[in-house]
Order: sequence, then structure tokens, then C-alpha cells
Amino acid sequence: MARYIGPVCKLCRREGMKLYLKGGRCFSEKCAVVRRPYPPGQHGQGRYKISEYGLRLREKQKTRRIYGLLEHQFRLYYTEATGLKGRTGEEMLGLLERRLDNVVYRSGFAETRSQARQLVRHKHILVNGKRVNIPSYRVKANDKIEIREKSRKIAYVSAALESAQGRERPSWIDVDKDNFAAVLKGAPPRDELNEPSIREQYVVEYYSR
Ligand code: SF4
Repeated sequence: MARYIGPVCKLCRREGMKLYLKGGRCFSEKCAVVRRPYPPGQHGQGRYKISEYGLRLREKQKTRRIYGLLEHQFRLYYTEATGLKGRTGEEMLGLLERRLDNVVYRSGFAETRSQARQLVRHKHILVNGKRVNIPSYRVKANDKIEIREKSRKIAYVSAALESAQGRERPSWIDVDKDNFAAVLKGAPPRDELNEPSIREQYVVEYYSR
């Protein structure tokens, strides 16, 4: 599946907030949102009024960019969520959070979702003992994900685990840092998905307009 490979700091500047797409740099003073807090492009510093439609479009784009997906794939999550029992927005976030690359990232084995995606694509990840190299693979409750023994010495994995120490651990994933393993306990509580903030209702309104 294709992915965005352009400059990512521009995406944060367009959304006017940190989307944490670059790991350590996002927490430093070098962050582009800190240095240039206005949208990219020639008219980035001009004044403009955002419409109701624009508000919803931006929220959809922001959410899509946080999870590193292109439009078609992202929309499929929305479509699937509309067929589920719960609130569409929350169901959609639940599906996105259970992507394998996201679980690897949330477990602290990678500093960004794109790094996690690379770990998956390069066959460094096992799910219940089997190699899985599909970033969109849906992790189920009680699934065990781990880094392959041979791959545990990768420098960026250790760096990611170190930097994740200072951050809050997600309550829905049991991480065994010493054994490079994690178990998904269940669905993520909505109030734990607030950094960066997502107004999923706007995404639903965008697609159902
Ligand atoms: Fe770049 Fe990270 Fe700052 Fe976004 S949050 S602008 S990705 S450094």
C-alpha cells in the first residue's frame, strides 16, 4: 500500500499543531511548529477565515496524517466503522489503533508510526510467534506482539524504548520491555487518545455530508 513520503513537518504546520511525526525532534526547539507557527507556502502568513466545511476537512486530514494513511485506505476505516454498533467516530479510532504499526508504536518500540511501519515491513515483528509484515494487520485482544530476537539490537528500537520511558504508558497494552514484547489487552479508552487531540465527530461529519 502506498504511503506519503514528502516532508512531514509541513503537515503539522498545515494543521497548526504538533502531530509528532518525527520522534525526538518533535520534543525539541527545532520543531517546525515552534519555529514557524503558521501554515506552509507563500501565503501561509496571510489571514483567512475557515469555513464550516474547511474545519471538518482539516480534522479529517489531521487524523489521517496522524496515522500515516492515504485517503482511500483511511476512508475504508470510516466505512467499516459505520457498520459497527458503537459511535462511528470512536469505532473508527478503535480500528485505527488496532493496526499493527500503531500497536508497535504505542508499545514504545518505535519513535513514530512510520518507524513502526518500517519495523513491520522489514519483518522484525512477530504476532503470536509468527512473522507478520503487514502494517495494517489488525491486532486482536490478547495477541502478543514481539520484536524478533535477531532484531532486538537495532539501534532505533533501543532509542525508542529509552525515549518512551518518560512518556505515559497506554493502559490497554501490557508492555514487557525486557523481553521486547507487548500484549493488547482490549480496546483503547477514548480519553487516552488525546495527544494530539482528535475531534472524530468532525471526521464523521465530513464523510457523511
Ligand atoms: Fe516536525 Fe515533529 Fe514538529 Fe511535527 S511535531 S513539525 S513532525 S518536529
